[in-house]
Amino acid sequence: MRELKIRERVQIEAGGEAVVERELGRGGQGIVYQVRYRGREYALKWYFISRIRNPEAFRKNLRKNIEDGAPEDGKRFIWPLFITKQKPNGAFGYLMQLAPRGYDSFTDIYNGYKWEMPAVKGQPARKRKVRFASLDVMLTAAINIVKAFRSLHLSGKSYQDLNDGGFFIDTKTGDVLVCDCDNVAPDGENFGIGGMPGFMAPEVVRGASKPNVLTDRYSLAVVLFKLFFRGDPLEGSKVLKCVVMTEENDLIHYGKDPVFIYDPNNAKNRPVNGVHDNVIKLWQIYPDFIRQAFTMSFTYGIQEPNARIIEKNWIKMLIQLKLDIVHCSCGKTAFSSVFDCQGDHTLVCRNCGSTIYTLGVSDYEVHLHPGAKLYRCLTEKANDDFETVTGEVVENRLKKGLYGIKNLSRKSWKVVFPDGSQRDVIRGKAAPIWKELQIDFGDDIRAEILL
Ligand SMILES: [Zn+2]
Repeated sequence: MRELKIRERVQIEAGGEAVVERELGRGGQGIVYQVRYRGREYALKWYFISRIRNPEAFRKNLRKNIEDGAPEDGKRFIWPLFITKQKPNGAFGYLMQLAPRGYDSFTDIYNGYKWEMPAVKGQPARKRKVRFASLDVMLTAAINIVKAFRSLHLSGKSYQDLNDGGFFIDTKTGDVLVCDCDNVAPDGENFGIGGMPGFMAPEVVRGASKPNVLTDRYSLAVVLFKLFFRGDPLEGSKVLKCVVMTEENDLIHYGKDPVFIYDPNNAKNRPVNGVHDNVIKLWQIYPDFIRQAFTMSFTYGIQEPNARIIEKNWIKMLIQLKLDIVHCSCGKTAFSSVFDCQGDHTLVCRNCGSTIYTLGVSDYEVHLHPGAKLYRCLTEKANDDFETVTGEVVENRLKKGLYGIKNLSRKSWKVVFPDGSQRDVIRGKAAPIWKELQIDFGDDIRAEILL
């Protein structure tokens, strides 16, 4: 394939020409350039045409994706926007929005750092730390990743090549952009892409299946596992014994005989001290329900694609995981499992001895530490908005040390005291935090402070 030259003109099917300004990067499928088209800057992905199995079918699919537009009005996707005409040798590419500033690639986040090129040539590259502003932000990012794939799957398409290079994330807010959307295809169709080793579902590695929605779900579990535990779910002592990872070994460990590192019924691939320290440390601190979700994904879910966790259920679990982060007034921030229990639901901080009550709402539990928030997904019916705050645990301005749940929603709440008496809590007012107190958010949604 001939690479494009700076200032080279490329004709666009929709009319006009894009002018190549500079190279942005290259990967297995092609090179990405920054181009100018109709007065605006875009990224142009230019394919290694020889690596596309059926260029005509690939082009047709790409054109269809451009016509359909991105799911959810494109707010979570860097979607193909324009396709180029073909060069005489058949080569072509497509234009997309440039990755906005302030976003880091999932790969850099996973590595924990990024090498930044110097502004002036000749100066050394700079190593910059890349990490989430907080655990809460990391979970916001995780939920946003799952939501993006839910919307894609709901539109009847699969992504096919889910891997750590496929996302840009704002580590301050948790906003997610899914990129590399050119392999997206209607579920059941495939235009040649297999996926990236380590992320591909075992049946794809074995060649027994093409990528589809169910194999996307496997890859999604891998992405979430890597995000949370900073390791590979299938790389333990069994894999480490192979000095060199050949393609044949890949086929065995990720295709024919994949064994989850924490498979409760098979200990032959456990993580190794000194090599997999991140996973060993992090696996212990997550709550049971999350460990069970990953265990299911990488044991039964490996063999049975239909048993893989659907996006809707991941979102529920991840919202609960976000709610499970306790910010004690002493500054300690951790999952509730790191706190002592008093009764079934009340937490006691090991650091300062503070008592933290828990509110049960629908299927969720919210720990009522100072500053704890209720979101629309908790107080409104059939809602998965986990970002709009509808309530917050605040200290009484007149009585220090006394806390209540302030109504920040548009609705009036009804509070039922343990003795049966009732009171309305309008917007701006707070419900007291008493054991067994009930809050009626309306629409049959009731919460209770648990014992
Ligand atoms: Zn504390």
